[in-house]
Amino acid sequence: MESPLTPARTLTDLSAWRAQWLAARDDPDGYWLERARALISWRTPPTRGCEGDFWSVEEAPLRWFADGRLNVSYQCLDRHLPARAAQTALIWEADEPGRHRHVTYAELHAQVCAAARGLERLGVEPGDRVIIYMGMTPEAVVAMLACARVGAVHSVVFGGFSADALRDRVLDSGAAVIITQDEGRRGGRPVPLKAAVDAALAGSPAAAAQVRAVVVSARVGDEGRAGPAWAWVEGRDVPWAALVRDDAPHEARAFEAERPLFILYTSGSTGKPKGLLHTSGGYITYAAHTHREVFGLREGDVYACVADVGWVTGHSYIVYGPLANGATTLLFESTPLYPDPGRYWRLVETHRVNILYTAPTAIRALMAEGDSWPARYDLRSLRTLGTVGEPINPEAWRWYHDVVGGGRCAVVDTWWQTETGGVCIAPIAHVTPTPPGAATRPLPGIAPVLLSPEGRLLHGPAEGHLCLEQPWPGQARTVWGDHARFVSTYFRQHPGRYFTGDGCRRDARGDHWVTGRVDDVLNVAGHRVGTAELEAALTLDRRVVEAAVVGYPHPLKGQGVCAYVVLAAGADLSAESLAGLQATVRGAIGAHAKLDRVLAVPGLPKTRSGKVMRRILRKVAEGALEDLGDLSTLADPGVVEAVVAAGRG
Ligand code: ATP
Ligand code: MG
Repeated sequence: MESPLTPARTLTDLSAWRAQWLAARDDPDGYWLERARALISWRTPPTRGCEGDFWSVEEAPLRWFADGRLNVSYQCLDRHLPARAAQTALIWEADEPGRHRHVTYAELHAQVCAAARGLERLGVEPGDRVIIYMGMTPEAVVAMLACARVGAVHSVVFGGFSADALRDRVLDSGAAVIITQDEGRRGGRPVPLKAAVDAALAGSPAAAAQVRAVVVSARVGDEGRAGPAWAWVEGRDVPWAALVRDDAPHEARAFEAERPLFILYTSGSTGKPKGLLHTSGGYITYAAHTHREVFGLREGDVYACVADVGWVTGHSYIVYGPLANGATTLLFESTPLYPDPGRYWRLVETHRVNILYTAPTAIRALMAEGDSWPARYDLRSLRTLGTVGEPINPEAWRWYHDVVGGGRCAVVDTWWQTETGGVCIAPIAHVTPTPPGAATRPLPGIAPVLLSPEGRLLHGPAEGHLCLEQPWPGQARTVWGDHARFVSTYFRQHPGRYFTGDGCRRDARGDHWVTGRVDDVLNVAGHRVGTAELEAALTLDRRVVEAAVVGYPHPLKGQGVCAYVVLAAGADLSAESLAGLQATVRGAIGAHAKLDRVLAVPGLPKTRSGKVMRRILRKVAEGALEDLGDLSTLADPGVVEAVVAAGRG
C-alpha cells in the first residue's frame, strides 16, 4: 500500500518545476521559508530568510533562517516517533555477505539519546568538535546524530584514511574527542581504525594533548579490550558500551539555525582538502527537500545510497536527508565487487531497494564485468537510479539505464559538491527528460550561469565557468578556521557569484553538461574542450573501460593531449587499435580532435571517494615525476607507480 509522504512531494511534473524555479528566483526568501516550515519541525519557526549576499561573504558568512531554532537530531528522530517508531530507519548491510540488521526509529532514537548523554558525561559542550573515524556501521550514524543532539560539531573522517591524514584533521578541527571502532571490515579485509587513531595521536604531542577521550566501538572484538594491533589506553579510551550505558530519555535542546553542524573535508581531487563548515537549519532544509524531490521518494521506499558517511554524499543522502524525511535508509559496509560483482544486485533483490544511488566509478567497474551479473537478480523493485561524483559518460549511463534499470527507471545524474550541501543541478526522477550524461536542469532556488574565464556572461548555448548567482540554504558557510581561503577559492575570480571550479556546457534545450574542472580544460587545435567530453568519446570504444585525459606542454602545438586508458581484458594498444581510438574520438568530437599520446595503464589514480586525480596524470605527462603534490587522499599508491612507469615508457 502506498500512502503519501507528509508533506507531499511538490515537483511532480515539469510545469511545477518551472513554476517553482521562477518563484524561487523572484522571491527566494519566500520560497525557502515555505520549504523550511513545511519540511522541518522547528522549536521556533524562522521568519527571516537569507542574510547577506555573494558580495558580503568577505565581511561575514551568509546566514539563513537566523531567528529559527531547532535540533537536527529531533528532526531526524523524535518527530517521527508518533508515526514511525516501529518503522525501519536503518538497514545495515554488513561486509559479510548475507549479514544484515534492521534498526527501527524507536531503537535509533534510544541509542542516540544514550550516546548524547554519554557525550555530555565526557564534557562535550555545544560547539565542541568531535572526530568520527569509523566504518559503515549503525554506530557511526548514532555518533553523528548524538553530536547534533548536543550541539557538538562532528567531523567524519573517511575510515580508509591513514593515521597521518587523520592527524591533520584532528589538529585542524581542534577536536577533543574521537569516536572510532576497533577495526573496520571492507571487502573481506580488516581496516585498522583504532590502531590508526593510536598512531595519529602518538605521532603528535599536540594532538595527544588536545584529545582527551577516544570512544571505541567493538565491530570485531570485545568491548573495552586491547586487540592484536592496538593497545587500550586507560584513562583516555572509553568503550562504546560505557558511552551508551544511560538509556534515560534525553531532551533535545533547541539551537539557533546557524549553529555549526559539521565540518567535512573535500575529496582532494584538485589539491589540499578544504574543511567546509555546514550549519543546521539551512542545511537540513536543503538536504530534506532535495532528497525527496530529486529521487522521487515515496512512503514505504527502501532507499540505498551506497556511498560512505565519510563523504558529503553520505552526510546528506544516507543520514540527514533520508532521516529528516522519515525514510528507510540503507548503510552499506562493503564494496561493489565483494565477494563478486553481483553484490549490489543481490543487495537490491534482498532488500527490495527502490532507489539506488552510486557513483560513475562503480558503474564503470561493474559494466566491465558484463551484463550477466545484474541479469542473475530480481531488480524489479528499482524505480530511480542516481549517480554522483564525476561526469557520467553516456556509455555508462546507458548501461545503468538499460541493463540495471531495465529501461523503466529514471536515471538522475546529480551535480553538486561538498560546498553546496546538496544536489544543485539534476533531473527530477520521472519528471525531467534525461539525455544520457547530462545533469540537466537546476533545482528551484539554484541559479546557474556560465562565464568566460575573463568574466563575460555567456548567453544561450555556451560553454564556460559554472557559477551560481543566488545563495541557497544548504551551502557551506566557510572553510573551518580559514575564511580568507573560502572567499578566495569561491568568490574572487567571479566577484558577486559563487564559482564552482567546474566547467559546464549548456545546450540549446537548456540542459547542463558538466565538462570537468576548469583547471583541466584542454586546448585541442585551438578549441577549448572539457576532459569529460574526450573521456566519454574514448569509452565509446569497446576496448576502453575507463579513460582520463590531460593536457601537457607540447613543443609545436603549445598543448598536447595525453590519454590514459584502462583497457578491457584481452585488448591491447596495437597500431590498429590506436588508429581505431583516434577515429572514435574524431567521430565523436570533430576532425580537429587528435590524441598526441595514449598510454595504457592498469588503473587510474583516484581519490578515496573514487574520483580521478587528473593533477597527478598531468604531472606525469609533463615529466614532473618528483613533485606529484598532496597524495594524502590517494586510494591506491601502487597505481601511481604504474602510471609513472607508463609515462616513462
Ligand atoms: P577537492 O575540492 O578537494 O578537489 P572534490 O571537488 O573532488 O575535491 P567533492 O566536493 O566530493 O570533492 O566533489 C565535488 C566535485 O565532483 C564537483 O565540483 C564536480 O567536479 C564533481 N561532480 C560531482 N557530481 C558530479 C556530476 N553529477 N557530474 C559531473 N561532475 C560531478
Ligand atoms: Mg571541489
